This record gives sequence, C-alpha cells and structure tokens, in this order.
Amino acid sequence: MARYIFITGGVVSSLGKGLASAALGALLQARGFSVRLRKLDPYLNVDPGTMSPFEHGEVFVTDDGAETDLDLGHYERFTGVPARQTDSVSSGRIYSTVLEKERRGDYLGKTIQVVPHVTNEIKEFLKIGEDEVDFMLCEIGGTVGDIEGLPFFEAIRQFAHDKKRGQCIFMHLTLLPYLAASGELKTKPTQHSVKELQSIGIAPDILVCRSEHPIPEKEREKIALFCNVRKEAVVAAYDLKSIYEAPLAYHEQGLDQAVLDAFDISPAPAPNLAMWHDVYDRIHNPEGHVKIAIVGKYTQLEDAYKSIAEALTHGGMANRVKVKIEWVDAELFDREDAAPYLEGYHAILVPGGFGERGTEGKIKAAQFAREKKVPYLGICLGMQMAVIEAARNVAGLAKAGSEEFDHEAGGKRFEPVVYHLKEWVQGNHTVARKADDDKGGTMRLGAYTASLKPGSKVADVYGSTTIEERHRHRYEVDTKYRETLESAGLLFSGMSPDGKLPEIVEWQDHPWFIGVQFHPELKSKPFAPHPLFADFVRAAVEMSRLV
Ligand code: GLN
Repeated sequence: MARYIFITGGVVSSLGKGLASAALGALLQARGFSVRLRKLDPYLNVDPGTMSPFEHGEVFVTDDGAETDLDLGHYERFTGVPARQTDSVSSGRIYSTVLEKERRGDYLGKTIQVVPHVTNEIKEFLKIGEDEVDFMLCEIGGTVGDIEGLPFFEAIRQFAHDKKRGQCIFMHLTLLPYLAASGELKTKPTQHSVKELQSIGIAPDILVCRSEHPIPEKEREKIALFCNVRKEAVVAAYDLKSIYEAPLAYHEQGLDQAVLDAFDISPAPAPNLAMWHDVYDRIHNPEGHVKIAIVGKYTQLEDAYKSIAEALTHGGMANRVKVKIEWVDAELFDREDAAPYLEGYHAILVPGGFGERGTEGKIKAAQFAREKKVPYLGICLGMQMAVIEAARNVAGLAKAGSEEFDHEAGGKRFEPVVYHLKEWVQGNHTVARKADDDKGGTMRLGAYTASLKPGSKVADVYGSTTIEERHRHRYEVDTKYRETLESAGLLFSGMSPDGKLPEIVEWQDHPWFIGVQFHPELKSKPFAPHPLFADFVRAAVEMSRLV
C-alpha cells in the first residue's frame, strides 16, 4: 500500500511546487523506492487541452492520450515514470463525473453536495493504483485559500484521516520574503499560510521555504515553533541556476531525510545520486555552446514550449554543450524576407502549433533551413510547414497549403497537401472524426507506433526501425503527394504501421532536415536525452564549426 505525500502551496503562486514534487520523487527513487506523481488542478476546465498556451503553458500529452498540466512533464523528466491518464485531474473532470453519475441515477435520489459527493470522487481518484508503488506524491494546484481548491483540501484531509496513522504526510511550500531595508527574512506570511491550512484541518509535516537568502538558524527555529513542525522539517529552497540541480539541492537541505523521518522509516536506505551528479556536471561544465532558433507563435511565453526547451537542454547535455535558445516570432517575417531574422543560428526548430497565424513565416523558416543547409527540426505543425514548403518551392505545387487554414474559403485557397484527418487506427479499432466534433480530447492523441525506413537518417538516429512516440494533432500530410514529394527529394522515412499516415519526412540532400508528426520532446529526460534532440544538437555543433 502506497504512502501518500500531499504537496500544497501558500503565500504566492509559482513557487515551484511541481519542481519540488518532481525532485522529491527523484530522491525517493535514488533511495530505492518506487514512486508515482499526480496533479490535482482546481480549475473548471475538464483538462487543459482546450486552453490557450498563453493561459496555461504547454499541454503535456501522456502515452495513453491524456492532455495534462505541464507539471506532469517535470514529473516524467525527473523520475522517468511515464505519466498516465489517471495522474491528472481537475475540478472540471471531477464535477463532470459526479454530474454524469447523478444523471444516471447512481446516487439513488440523494441531494448531491460538495461534501461528500465531490470529495468522495476525489478520494476515489487518489486511490487509483495505490498498490503499485511505495510512494504516491499528489500535488494540489493553486494556493491554500483559493475558493476552487477547497474541495481538494477537504478531500486530502479526509483521505489522510481514513488511512492508517502515518500513511499520509503533508508538505507545504511557502515563501520567505526578504526586506532589504531591515535586512531580514520575514516568516509571517508562512505562519499565516500554515494557519490557513490548519483551519481546514491539515497540519503540515514538512515546510519547504523558498528564499533568496540563507535562512538563519533563528528564523528556522521560529518557523518550526510557530508552525508546529520539527526544525529539521523546515527545508530551505534556494534559487538554482538550473532546475536539474533541484534533486541534489533538496537532498543537501535534508528534504528526503525529513520525509522518511515523517514516515518513521528507519534506518533510511542510503541514496544513490550518481546519475544526478552526472547531470549536474554536464550542465555546469559545457565545452562550448550552440545557438538555436525556435521559430514559433507563442514566443513571449516560454512555458508554451516547455518540453521543447528542456529537450534541447538535454540534447546539449548529450553533446556537452550549452544550448542557447532564442525565440523568434514567425509573424515578423510572414510577409518579409526571413534571412535577416534567421542568419547566424546553428539550427532552427519549428515547434507545434494551431491556426494560421505565423504559418507563412514558419514556411519561410523551413525554406531558409533547406536552402542554407542549416539543421532543421520540424515538430508536428513544424513538419507540416516543411512539407508545404517542399510542395510549393520544390515539387511545383504552388498553391500547397493545409485544410486547417482554409475553413472560410471552403478549401479553395490552397491545394491541401495537409488534410483534416477523419479516420485512423488505434490498436485494434478505427477512430473516426468529423470536422465539427467537440474540440476537447478529440485529436489523434497519445502514443502510436511508426515504422522507419531502413537506411534512412531517422532509422540511424533512433538505432531502430520501430518507434513509439506521442501525438497531438488533427491534420495529416496527404500520402496522395508522396510520390511527387519523394521525387523532389523529400523522403517519407517514417509511416504508421498500416502505411497510411506519414510520421516522418527528411530531405535527402541535406545534412540534417527532419520533420516529425509527433512530439519527441515529451519523452526526453536529462539522464536520457531523446535521440532526435541529441543528434539535432550534434548537427548544430557541426554547423557551429562551419560558420
Ligand atoms: N495544428 C496542427 C494539427 O492539428 C498541428 C498540431 C501540433 O502541432 N500539435 O495537425
């Protein structure tokens, strides 16, 4: 039966709860325990799939096709445990399940209430898979005191009450602001935040205090006394140069020991942190750098491409170089020459995206990379852009475009080289979609197998001809144009096993130009960089030696 660690936050948002949870997961693994991490989000959307990246940052897709919070990306990157559909839930999902049950008559005529019906549904969610791991880490989104969060706090309180003593602990993240005028760290907001928790029946066992300055012993004692936690359980979280230092930094501050003590696990197995020391070394001692442009639409908000930025960092670690990412807004050169914006980069990446805005710029970026022989990685929309560019400028299909951008003109503006996917095979059954389906959860989502052409660049990069990667898209390159495009030099080097859906394209007379219909970035880890990103950065390093 799993032990539960509930992670909550107070004082302000964006304290790095997700990162603290992920790092703690990694530390427990380093001590030989198995872990699973979960996120409970108080917002009312059923999942973040329909939210704009400006609202929510990236949508992280799991193997089993859930569209989840980007914190699940952190969890996977730190623990390597593939997240599942059942590792992410929102108030919206809980309420919609409760209401479905009510309509079915499952509650036998009872009045439906937040307590117990909504809280029971949350508790059921928490129990899923409780026999599978040693530790279940459950992070509650938002901060204590938020109206939407209350049912979750009530549910975890009850959950711990229902379980045996010592099976659940509460870890609370707060901020110690620094007052420069008096040169002091202030503990009052932390005290208030803990009071707020206590008023809803939760007494934290561990406090993780974010601080820009070292926490003096006196302040630590004060926090312990006023917040009713052991002094050793007041753990400092200082700012880090890289998120991947977090496991070592938290270990140094005693977080994992405090957790094991709170569960009375003694003697505590010694941690093996060799892997994290290697990660640290690769990040802090690069032997050079490369400059890579990400040409996208949401460039003001780096969280929109979180996993891509992380995967590039991992690619850098694989090659012992620092990857300097520069965000280039594709709209800037929708109608202009792209060269002034793209010259000087050692590689160009065009990420996934939705809608027409900025796509002419992205097409120009693909053209620039092809003509100038700059390494190019096109992901999802970035692959579709590369195919449209090839069709227009090399294969002579001047009007090539995507159905995604052609709704109003009724399909007349473009010759649709990329079409709306209506049917595909998932496992043993066929999935069907219509253009007017609901927007939420209806894309081709999750892990699908692709077969790679022996002898192709990607087969070489992956070292295999069968791969499995995660998808999230509605549109697909039309195989009707395969022959035309292949005779122009664009090889369809990866296909779905039934041969119907192009998964990868690559230019044959180019040092490194690959477009993939899936999202490889979602599977990259600092301790296991994704082969495509590792090789893309290697190609960028080669490019940097030429210019
Ligand atoms: N908008 C494109 C599609 O739906 C690409 C999606 C993506 O880049 N994730 O196919």
